Amino acid sequence: MYCVDCGKDKPIFRNGSCLECYLKNHQFAHGPDVFHIPVCNYCGGYKYKSTWKKDSFEKIVKRYVKNAFSFSPELKDIQIILDCHDEDDSIFCKVTITSMIDNEQVSEDHFVEIRLKPNVCDICSKQFGGYHEAILQIRSSEKKMSDQQKKSIEEFLNALVYSMQKNGNRKLFVTDKNFEKTGIDYLLSDKQAAASIIKKAQEEFCGEITVSSSNVGMKDGKQVYRMTYLLRLPGFDKHSILVTGDRLFFVTSLSNNTVHVIDLKTWNNHTFAVKDFEKTTAYDYDDLVQDMIVVSQKDDEIQVMDKNNYSITVINKPKKVNYTSDQISVVRYDDSFFLLPEINDK
Ligand SMILES: [Zn+2]
Ligand SMILES: [Zn+2]
Repeated sequence: MYCVDCGKDKPIFRNGSCLECYLKNHQFAHGPDVFHIPVCNYCGGYKYKSTWKKDSFEKIVKRYVKNAFSFSPELKDIQIILDCHDEDDSIFCKVTITSMIDNEQVSEDHFVEIRLKPNVCDICSKQFGGYHEAILQIRSSEKKMSDQQKKSIEEFLNALVYSMQKNGNRKLFVTDKNFEKTGIDYLLSDKQAAASIIKKAQEEFCGEITVSSSNVGMKDGKQVYRMTYLLRLPGFDKHSILVTGDRLFFVTSLSNNTVHVIDLKTWNNHTFAVKDFEKTTAYDYDDLVQDMIVVSQKDDEIQVMDKNNYSITVINKPKKVNYTSDQISVVRYDDSFFLLPEINDK
């Protein structure tokens, strides 16, 4: 058959034309030359239709192209490839549309200009307005929370918020943080997220949760409540030393409302409820533990020397162990000394 366009003897594709001529004479996609895309000055989110999205620039431009372009119905498996560059105040993109017609691959280039319109997204404007649905309070049961503990709680909360945001909770942000003498407050924009964060904080740090709410007025004809989630921590932490009667317990781990300890006299492991130690005196690791020099040792005892005054002390070994280093950590309480079992995570 002869092509009506080029006159060559070739297989006819459509309307008497060969494939090559048919593609030359047809445009398969049509769309605007310019897109105006609102962008948030603060978080870099883009607006598509009426919603703000945290998509990449490329993903958002593809959304705009797919929505605004019309494609010939004979195109199958449409792919959009972008190649963009900045120029003055605009971004110019080559939009390559490839697809299949019958079993032939076709591709077509379009050129569009993207003008970004600076704006503030819904979430950032809420954040600037101090919006918060929930207050997360983490409090020590002591008169003061150590800076070390504040830091580890802050890192824990930040990591949790970040992972929830990354997993698609765009509603969630930290409006404000307050550092008090006895703990930390986080003001959060999303109460569902706040409720799950406090549960996770309890799993990590133990303690008791109290929930309360306060009425903060009407919105769209409904009462609006602000939730307060309070986690009161136990008066001790991992690696604290608890003194009750003549027993000393070393805390190896805490989870939910359970505390795992080692009895320093016997090195036996025990598990208690956190509230069993409510009235117990707790010491920080650094308050009671000091390094001493190993002088000599036998199966059941070890001689150590105080680095400051060179005094020698003999301490019983609760279990048969052989110390290989020339210094060991020793718990000193009143005038008694105790050996610490190997702890792998300190
Ligand atoms: Zn032809
Ligand atoms: Zn924003």
